[in-house]
Amino acid sequence: MMEKPIYEKRICPECKKERSMWNDDKECFECRDKKRIAKLGKEVVEEGESYNEDEIICPWCGADYGTDDMQESTDCNCYECDKKFHVDIEYSASYSTSKLQAMQEIK
Ligand SMILES: [Zn+2]
Ligand SMILES: [Zn+2]
Repeated sequence: MMEKPIYEKRICPECKKERSMWNDDKECFECRDKKRIAKLGKEVVEEGESYNEDEIICPWCGADYGTDDMQESTDCNCYECDKKFHVDIEYSASYSTSKLQAMQEIK
């Protein structure tokens, strides 16, 4: 029989902070996210660019730049390595439809 998952406050073994986590989690969400971004950063540095990511990642050093107040494509200076990079904001397309008045039949 499977053990029932319990969501509870525990000390995260990674950051040693009390976090709400599942009883079979080895780390809290924050640690997992940090690892995910660290991994993503490594890939971005290897590629020299990032494409369609949720985070703005510096292509020079892999730092997570955050997305605060970024409304349009712009050039940035990385706060970590002080090198310049360009950010293009990609918006994913979504579609809306509505009925147009049916054309009148030509008699
Ligand atoms: Zn943690
Ligand atoms: Zn950087």
